Amino acid sequence: MIPKKHRQLLFPLFVMVFLLPFVYHAPAIGTVHENASTDTHDLGMYYEILRDSTNSITIEDLIEGTYNSSFTPSTEKYLSFLHTDDTIWLKLNADDLITDHEQMHWLEYNDKIEFLTVYAVNEDGSYESYESGLFNLQNQPFPYPSLLFPIDGPEVKELYLQLNGQLPLTIFTKLYSNNSFIENVLSYKFYSGTFYGFLLALALYNLFLFFSFRERSYLYYTLYMFSFMLYQATMNSFDVQLFGHIASPWLLTKTLGFSCNLMIVAMILFGKEFLEIKHHLPRSNRVLNIAIGLAFLSTIALFAGVGQYFTDLFITTMALFVLVFLWISGLRLLLKGHKSARFYLLGWSFLLFSMMIQALVMLGFMPLSLAVFEEIPAYSAMFEALILSFALADKITLIMKDNRRTQAELNETLENKVLERTEQLKKIQVELEHLANTDRLTKIPNRMLLDHVMESEFKRSQIEGIPLSIILIDLDYFKNVNDTFGHQVGDSVLVETAKLFQASVRDSDTIGRWGGEEFLVICPSTTLEDALRLAEKIRTTLADHPFEEVGHKTASFGVASQISSDTLRSLISRSDKALYAAKENGRNRVEFIKIGQGEETLQSESDPLLRK
Ligand code: GH3
Ligand code: MG
Ligand code: MG
Repeated sequence: MIPKKHRQLLFPLFVMVFLLPFVYHAPAIGTVHENASTDTHDLGMYYEILRDSTNSITIEDLIEGTYNSSFTPSTEKYLSFLHTDDTIWLKLNADDLITDHEQMHWLEYNDKIEFLTVYAVNEDGSYESYESGLFNLQNQPFPYPSLLFPIDGPEVKELYLQLNGQLPLTIFTKLYSNNSFIENVLSYKFYSGTFYGFLLALALYNLFLFFSFRERSYLYYTLYMFSFMLYQATMNSFDVQLFGHIASPWLLTKTLGFSCNLMIVAMILFGKEFLEIKHHLPRSNRVLNIAIGLAFLSTIALFAGVGQYFTDLFITTMALFVLVFLWISGLRLLLKGHKSARFYLLGWSFLLFSMMIQALVMLGFMPLSLAVFEEIPAYSAMFEALILSFALADKITLIMKDNRRTQAELNETLENKVLERTEQLKKIQVELEHLANTDRLTKIPNRMLLDHVMESEFKRSQIEGIPLSIILIDLDYFKNVNDTFGHQVGDSVLVETAKLFQASVRDSDTIGRWGGEEFLVICPSTTLEDALRLAEKIRTTLADHPFEEVGHKTASFGVASQISSDTLRSLISRSDKALYAAKENGRNRVEFIKIGQGEETLQSESDPLLRK
């Protein structure tokens, strides 16, 4: 089987196979029918040729027979004189060509020429003449892309064509009977409709794609398609047919060179953009930029009247050079591993092939045939246009795939980063919270956390109706410690005391530093009695503990338990009052305020309770 990555090649291959029979039969529907009708003659081989370098011979001289011996019979099917200053005389013997003298005939001259006069000479030496060519369009018998001359009357014996001009003379002439001419016109319409319709559809389609994707290659492709159509149209003399009556003949001799230059520029722009030559092959890019500059210069030269031969030669050479250069650039990039170059190369190969043949013919290296100017370029252009359009689609697919991959990679790293950062932030948040809630010296909860816990526990006990008690503790005569042993020893006593207290309370209790040498224990779900018991336990633990240097220290305890009429403030205030009472009553003791007997009445209830 075909490897997956090459499957995309199947499409153009399929298209080519599909179109092959069409191409094979192309001559049958093209402008030129070799055998479409026996009433059609390619005139090349029928001519006798006379080159008049003096430009002084007249039709009268020829009718008189003065130059009969100077004519030489043609040896080629298609005659080409390229650029010449001579007047070319071509002579035809009517009897060789016309059998049915009752039917009207048409002589068709199928290329651009500045001056062409056709003489139909009768048996008796009289003649009819038709002046034609770009400089005689107003006298042209019919407005048609090619030059048409009616040959009428049974007496016509000889036909003469008189040719003059600076344009290269490539002579495709035919003689049709009236019927075969009509047949030809119809098939020509079909052919040009198919050809231009196909290219136009592709060009417009890709123009729409440009508006949709905003990828400049599409725009340049469209420009290239239009310039190519323009070039082909001028090749087929549609410019003469459409604008011959308004445009100056001088301008009409320049259209081919101009449209060819336009096409060169468009194909460079497309190639540069599509293959990203600026990025991948910077030196080639410079060469192509110079080529664009030369195309502009040669356009100016063309209109400034530099010799037609020179500009034709220059433009043709340029076209050939640019084609080969772009083809090689495509090949280099393909070899470098740029996938998108493959269809470009394939499409370009078609065009290169036909343009090479055309250029070689123009430069005189290959024999001339009408197929070179009509069928080969037309069909290779259709293939090329189709495959390049496919190349664009292929490139967009590659770009999108690449984008998606990059996007996925980015997303993944981004996600990881976000996760990592969130984790870090969480840690920092926990740390900060801990720091904010912890007393710096003793490392037990600080006033802030105590306030918070008090508030929530107070609410909880209110809502759930469970008891809540608090114990306020103040170290006795602590000032003395500082005064006697110094502040630092005082600090270490505070730290040690905090540790001692923390070890004495239950897990459900919260003990924290209330301020200075004061501590608070919050005891949820604890009755007054249990709180008094806990306070007593803490009191004895402290009193029994020997501090280094300082010896034994004691503390006083104020206990309060929540009652239904309490606010948080009144609860704390009661514990504070109890603590005050403990101090008053001799320190190192636990006190509480008995409710219902007036808050001023201090009762030492701890002893009887504990004695129970
Ligand atoms: P009593 O409570 O028994 O009435 O006497 P006291 O000496 O403990 O009371 P007072 O309120 O007069 O003094 C409290 C002392 O505690 C004053 C202050 O120097 C000391 N103190 C408060 N906070 C700290 C602290 O963080 N470190 C140290 N070393 N001493 C502190
Ligand atoms: Mg104090
Ligand atoms: Mg104190």
